[in-house]
Amino acid sequence: MSRAVLSIGSNLGDRLGYLRGVVDGFGDRVLAVSSVYTTAPWGGVDQDDYLNAVLLVEDPAFGCRDWLAAGQDLERAADRVRTVRWGARTLDVDVIACADERGEVRSDDPELTVPHPRAHERAFVLVPWLEVEPAAVLEADGVTRALADWIAALPADERAEVRRTELALVGERS
Ligand code: ATP
Ligand code: CA
Ligand code: CA
Repeated sequence: MSRAVLSIGSNLGDRLGYLRGVVDGFGDRVLAVSSVYTTAPWGGVDQDDYLNAVLLVEDPAFGCRDWLAAGQDLERAADRVRTVRWGARTLDVDVIACADERGEVRSDDPELTVPHPRAHERAFVLVPWLEVEPAAVLEADGVTRALADWIAALPADERAEVRRTELALVGERS
């Protein structure tokens, strides 16, 4: 059994379609889906804005690595091409945090580092996550804080660049 927080993003091609593909791909495993946010790119590469969202997912048979593998399958299905680090992509699926039957998993394995080591610096992860799990906490560099506190510590302009949209990943689709 494991339960994970996934951050999904796209800034190339049918951005909304790729994000919906993740929700459809995970199907019954999806416990909660945030709103879709439009966000400025992170990491210094000049590229178009992203659509980002956060999913809470659970599966009785999955371990934390299975979320990474399944996310990478979906990235491949979206024809993601790896070029520049933090550059444009059709789909990115990151495992932000994961808990199994023994509790919150911590790993510094480069293949799967959880909690995601840059999540606390990213308004585009924290803001949608807060929406679906308001009581969540996140540990970074040995410090555990509520999501709202991590968000409050970010520069105001980074927070302002994460804007909620009326686009939906589930339910009524226009
Ligand atoms: P970032 O991780 O800073 O958001 P990125 O998403 O652009 O950068 P990718 O090129 O998608 O990075 O992934 C590079 C590698 O990161 C993957 O091969 C994967 O094994 C590894 N990785 C380590 N921890 C995680 C995690 N928590 N979620 C997703 N991938 C991870
Ligand atoms: Ca990423
Ligand atoms: Ca990634």
